Amino acid sequence: MLRREMPPADTRGGWLLRLSEKGVAPAADGKSLMERRETWPEGVLRLGYWNDEPVAVTVEAGDDSWPAPRDWLAQLSPAESELLATALQVTHWERDHRFCGRCGHPTRRLLHEFAMQCDNCGLRGYPRISPCIITLVTHGKDMLLARSPRFPPQRYSTLAGFIEPGEAVEAAVRREVMEEVGVEVGRVSFFKSQSWPFPHSLMMGFFAEAASRRIRIDGEEIVDAAWFTPERLPQLPPVYSISRQLIETHRGAVATR
Ligand SMILES: [Zn+2]
Repeated sequence: MLRREMPPADTRGGWLLRLSEKGVAPAADGKSLMERRETWPEGVLRLGYWNDEPVAVTVEAGDDSWPAPRDWLAQLSPAESELLATALQVTHWERDHRFCGRCGHPTRRLLHEFAMQCDNCGLRGYPRISPCIITLVTHGKDMLLARSPRFPPQRYSTLAGFIEPGEAVEAAVRREVMEEVGVEVGRVSFFKSQSWPFPHSLMMGFFAEAASRRIRIDGEEIVDAAWFTPERLPQLPPVYSISRQLIETHRGAVATR
């Protein structure tokens, strides 16, 4: 498990996770996500403690044999997924925030927390997290699932969208469902949340009860949407996604009704 406490700045070794722009290096055993190093390479970013030992991430040139982060997420435990999500997000953030967004001066990484400091104007930047809603719209047993043009062929999923500045989370659920499929929803209930590091989303999962069944798709974000019964579902997202967990939770709940 990742303990979110920064190891002292003079920590020299411990667990090491190696990322490249596109992949994540397997450890020497070919399977694990990280390995122990007596001495970390220069410039590592410390993440916290993994099972009470310091853990850090480094970014290297890598090679094409390194599996993509999504492939790793399909096989990691929830605790390892959290560690990988953290490593991906903080390394991308550091790469993209080398200069101050206000005055353009080079920034420097602070050592006691995830923050980039501008010594010229004092602005301090923190890793960006983008909250999104993801919702399974239900009507009795049935589930409303939709296809985005970016999906693999035949795949259907729950609806999702970014929360806008100034907007409440529940309002974002109602707005996204209305925009994407033209359905008004009644009761909205929180399920759980999941970090989704592509590149920095925080997915907040909800169940939303439809007030009517008539679907009107927007044709851009959504190319098809339909009601599905639990007995006849289309091809679904992978099991580690919160989308799939929403679907399976609903399916389990109505099966025992
Ligand atoms: Zn500045």
